[in-house]
Amino acid sequence: MAEDVVTLLSDTETQPTAGMRAAMTAAEVGDEQKGEDPTVCLLQDRVAGLLGKEGALWLPSGTMCNLVAVKSQTQPGDAIVADWMAHVIRAESGGAALASGVRVEPIQTERGIFTVDELKEAVGRTVTVPPPYGQPVRLVCVEQTHNFGGGAIWSLDELNVVSDYARKHKMLLHMDGARLLNACVATGVPAADFSATVDSVWIDFTKGLGAPIGAVLAGTKDLLREARRYKQLFGGAMRQAGIAAAGCLYAIDHHVDRLAEDHEHARLLARGLLTVNGIHVHTPMPETNMVFFDVHALGVSNERFVDLMAASGVRMSQTGRAIRAVTHLDVSRCGIDRALNVAQEVATNLNKEKVDENESPL
Ligand SMILES: *Cc1c(COP(=O)(O)O)cnc(C)c1O
Repeated sequence: MAEDVVTLLSDTETQPTAGMRAAMTAAEVGDEQKGEDPTVCLLQDRVAGLLGKEGALWLPSGTMCNLVAVKSQTQPGDAIVADWMAHVIRAESGGAALASGVRVEPIQTERGIFTVDELKEAVGRTVTVPPPYGQPVRLVCVEQTHNFGGGAIWSLDELNVVSDYARKHKMLLHMDGARLLNACVATGVPAADFSATVDSVWIDFTKGLGAPIGAVLAGTKDLLREARRYKQLFGGAMRQAGIAAAGCLYAIDHHVDRLAEDHEHARLLARGLLTVNGIHVHTPMPETNMVFFDVHALGVSNERFVDLMAASGVRMSQTGRAIRAVTHLDVSRCGIDRALNVAQEVATNLNKEKVDENESPL
């Protein structure tokens, strides 16, 4: 990637650092499929400890963590509940429906965090009385932090009430913790406290943590027995995967605390964008590493604005309702200043075009 490009497209864009690459090169490896890769085993133990669960399972991607977790904890014909913008609904090609034969009942929320009353309503919509017409809800999914909800954080209290309700009604709770560690760094709440509220939880090493490959799913021994089977079935079992797992171990040791810097950069970016005439910031006080905004007031589409920014070397993405800018390991404070300057410049030009149009003698 050209050095002068500021890439706020996604925190998946991070390049492995020199230190991470060195750790990967030096990794001890074995046949992961047979459970004999020492580095993968070490990573699984570290994550199980970090998340306070009986065990953990290395998988190639976060998407496969969701796929395996849903498959391991449901029966075909069950329903699962998730926020309507959840990754498991919006960004996994319908994997839950295809692989697990479940229907996902969505809960419409502003920022991805639902209340126990909203959960009750969703369950009510699904488990219609009298039987046998409804579908049992087996699994409730929460996303920490919530990606399309603006990097929003579930507080421990919010999780606890939802968790108590789910347990009382014999439903399991699954946490898509792709960015769980962002929530931990932002709140100071230990990961194990968040994950104690759920039955299954995973973290992604390829987001802000900066590793090239890998995600780890954690839970009880019973869950992991099922999960191992489906990992093999879906083709997720690997060979000398320790090369990749070493990058993840390196990330746990070196890239967690620094997430605070990404959060600070997101706040700076949001604060700067707030001062730009014509930009409407949806997340004026970002909770973690994402900023969402739109530019309808500039008289152009979000797509057009993103294209104009990219032409000046600042990459952002367009996600339906908004433009998304994500801070990460490879975005410096200078990069944020540069992004703000370019946004200001593009907006000024667009505002000027609008004025010129209005003043045109034609
Ligand atoms: C990125 C992401 C995933 C999927 O992870 P991959 O490693 O890209 O497969 C799942 N959930 C959330 C919230 C994500 O942001």
